[in-house]
Amino acid sequence: VKDFGIEKSLKNLGIKSENKGTSTGGKFFASGKTIESYSPSDGRLIGKIKTSAEKDYDKVIETAQTAFKEFRMIPAPKRGEFVRQLGLKLREYKDDLGKLVSYEMGKSLQEGLGEVQEMIDICDFAVGLSRQLHGYTMHSERPGHRMYEQYHPLGIVGVITAFNFPVAVWAWNTALAWICGNVTIWKPSEKTPFCAIACQNIMMEVLKENNLPEGISSVLVADHEIGQLLVDDKRVSLISFTGSTKVGRMVSSKVAERFGKSILELGGNNAIIISKDADLDMSIIGAVFGAVGTAGQRCTSTRRLIIHEDVYDEVKNRLVKAYGQLKIGNPLDENMHVGPLIDVHAVNQYEMAIENCIQEGGKFVVEGGVLEGKNYESGCYVKPCIAEVENSFEIVQHETFAPILYLIKYKTLEEAIEIQNDVPQGLSSAIMTQNLREAELFLSQAGSDCGIANVNIGTSGAEIGGAFGGEKETGGGRESGSDVWKYYMRRQTNTINYTANLPLAQGIKFDL
Ligand code: NAD
Repeated sequence: VKDFGIEKSLKNLGIKSENKGTSTGGKFFASGKTIESYSPSDGRLIGKIKTSAEKDYDKVIETAQTAFKEFRMIPAPKRGEFVRQLGLKLREYKDDLGKLVSYEMGKSLQEGLGEVQEMIDICDFAVGLSRQLHGYTMHSERPGHRMYEQYHPLGIVGVITAFNFPVAVWAWNTALAWICGNVTIWKPSEKTPFCAIACQNIMMEVLKENNLPEGISSVLVADHEIGQLLVDDKRVSLISFTGSTKVGRMVSSKVAERFGKSILELGGNNAIIISKDADLDMSIIGAVFGAVGTAGQRCTSTRRLIIHEDVYDEVKNRLVKAYGQLKIGNPLDENMHVGPLIDVHAVNQYEMAIENCIQEGGKFVVEGGVLEGKNYESGCYVKPCIAEVENSFEIVQHETFAPILYLIKYKTLEEAIEIQNDVPQGLSSAIMTQNLREAELFLSQAGSDCGIANVNIGTSGAEIGGAFGGEKETGGGRESGSDVWKYYMRRQTNTINYTANLPLAQGIKFDL
């Protein structure tokens, strides 16, 4: 089996055959069961990890609580300096970490490296932001009074992440949480534990070189029962959850019950509208990359194409041709376009979705199927497929985390927008058109109801500078750029009276 240099990268990242999962920066807390992680690319065992049990969990929380008291007193620009150093380390380890992401998660090497680049970008963004945590000042209605607001850190931020972005989502959260003065506890997906251990190993170099206390950045490698403890724990001020709508719904209500804060980044069901005025060359590239990139396992993957009737047949035929040219294979091999699904369970979900689609009357124009034989030994490789459907099919309303693309025909733009919005999720959306009126209508309040709406770019991928997230069952949370840092802080309004009188607000008199 070709190694693609993965053994060397694992070594550089400090990953051995037997590992301890949970750490608070230097100390390990791993008295739970041992789990194994296999690569979906070639089916090989990457290594074993000792996870955490409940008693370890309490140690991690207590260590984080103590660390917070110290960390919140460090000036924000100085905290930004630690994030700057993390960004430098990530540059150093970019090739190794990108390769590990590709190997353990199954996305292409280019996408793995791209994910690490996002981590670097958010660090740069956060460094600048560490000098710009601004609040407003207001004019008081009372003489000799001054009013202003400030933002204070929250405390412990619990970061629970999905398997499909096994490193970037942690960095989006940690870089911002840190400059805001919080400490973080990361519960990564049990499907990609080595990506988390590698990040923590890189982070530990920063902690050590700056003599920072234990507990500022912890990783909790454990099953979802320990994740549940984090969700229910009053000592955790904010839960930033990225994952399925099913789990997110539960997380949302549990955190709300204890009046905690949450950021929810849940499932998507993203569509591109292809107008009769679209540049079809661009549309085909955008649609194919959006649908088959990361084997359809991005929250922003293109799942539906809503195509004008005048260009429907042409788009369909060109898609069929493009799919015929896709090369499916080891994601570390740069000649391949499509890698594997994360595991055999995901392959079952893919097969069931195809079956359900056919039952509901869907007509496949590119057939799916599971690949077998040489180079497909892991059992996780599937064929990207395309079906003609109605938007109202139950399976079309549902996010299947696999490369299945649905085609839907429309007559008027108003109808296309209605179809685009008529799903429970609201993450990413796009229109391909050279017609200004169409583009503006799509972006208007009568247009897309998603958190992300693009013109002449596909649905998948985003830059860290914007606020990332979606509406409806996508959860309403925002992560990353813009003013998202405010989610990681508590807001306080301060009024200061610098006179010798005590005038009350609204002119109220209270004479004694
Ligand atoms: P998942 O919901 O199965 O798991 C996500 C995380 O939740 C994992 O770390 C898991 O261990 C944890 N978890 C599971 N049960 C829990 C519980 N009871 N309490 C606490 N934690 C628990 O999701 P997944 O399969 O890893 O990821 C795929 C999903 O994530 C897709 O729906 C995708 O759209 C979504 N996603 C959304 C975004 C976004 O930004 N909107 C980004 C990436 C992924």
